[in-house]
Amino acid sequence: MDMIDIKNESGFQEQISESECPSSFESTMNVSANDGMPDFKSKIISGQIQLREKRGRSRAWNIFATMIDENGDEIENFVACRNCFSSYKFVNSTSNLVKHKCFLQYEAKENQRNPQYVPLSFEIKDKLSDAVVQWLVKNGRSCNILQDSGLKDFVRILLTIGADFGENVNMEDVIPNPATIAVTIKELYEERRQAIIAELGNAKNGYSITTAIWVDNCLKQPLASVTVHYIQQSAMVSRLLAVYPLARDANTVEE
Ligand SMILES: [Zn+2]
Repeated sequence: MDMIDIKNESGFQEQISESECPSSFESTMNVSANDGMPDFKSKIISGQIQLREKRGRSRAWNIFATMIDENGDEIENFVACRNCFSSYKFVNSTSNLVKHKCFLQYEAKENQRNPQYVPLSFEIKDKLSDAVVQWLVKNGRSCNILQDSGLKDFVRILLTIGADFGENVNMEDVIPNPATIAVTIKELYEERRQAIIAELGNAKNGYSITTAIWVDNCLKQPLASVTVHYIQQSAMVSRLLAVYPLARDANTVEE
């Protein structure tokens, strides 16, 4: 797909005016730039653009995030919905953002639950700290795990379940079965794999494959990675294809 194709495709205008949240992968892939708006959505889906939580007073930041390009730089004056990846121009005012469908849905849910947060007592906070310390020490987890945005999302769901059903929920039902997780990971892997295959098919200038070998100091295990590089929409794309362990006597490279 070259730049001219992108400009001729419509879809972005519709997205802005109706604030629709396309639910299927196909429909989101079709949304492209118009009126000089860059095609952020497909880059978010392909992983070229990462979303980063934005801190701010507006509640819009519960749904919208800033976009980080491949160089780690923030894309200025644009933000994207974390739910449906629609992008919006943002210059100081969130008045457009708070009309977005995902935000309205989020607010409706929040308001149902009474958004006045109850301050937790020191006793409860101590209890939480103790439980977390027990968890980290008992299971040998890093403190960094507490910074995971995924953990926060998970806890948010737990709070919702607790609010809806009280304490009489079987914990075994709340924590997903590892077998289910494995299936979900496989599905996600296959989805991403197919997306990369499709991208490679469109890479008119071909692609290159590079490998890196290093030793994991903690595991004392030599590892090799395989990365493919190609040009997409005039920008270089890198996709990590695989990381695999090498025989331990092959540790000739230290990094
Ligand atoms: Zn959205």
